[in-house]
Amino acid sequence: MAKTEEKYDVTLSDAEWRQRLSQEQYAVLRRHGTERAGTSPLDKRYDPGTYVCAGCGQKLFSSETKYDSRSGWPSFWKPLDGGVGTSTDHKLIYPRTEVHCSRCGGHLGHVFEDGPAPTGERYCMNGVALKFEPKG
Ligand code: FE
Repeated sequence: MAKTEEKYDVTLSDAEWRQRLSQEQYAVLRRHGTERAGTSPLDKRYDPGTYVCAGCGQKLFSSETKYDSRSGWPSFWKPLDGGVGTSTDHKLIYPRTEVHCSRCGGHLGHVFEDGPAPTGERYCMNGVALKFEPKG
């Protein structure tokens, strides 16, 4: 899907995003930054719940699809239906598939083809772009 053609339900100005988000959240979600590996407390968390977008609150991933990829970033083998969109990222020599929130367009991370069964996908997410909502 061509990112330039995507329309998001949540659209804020750059100034509004800066106000709403922490510096770290802004750098990742709105500027396609990457948090340092191993810095997110969500990386080692496996209790039941839902991971939502830190920008707009949309539900993105279930704890049921979270696994330890040993990459230092929270990793999932599948997003929730309709939660995320993808685009092609040409920032490095090899193209990668960028993953963002389908509601606000906030950058979340990338998806790779070296994940576990049943999908074989690894959604490699920046923990700072997510908020964890424990079940119940
Ligand atoms: Fe969002």
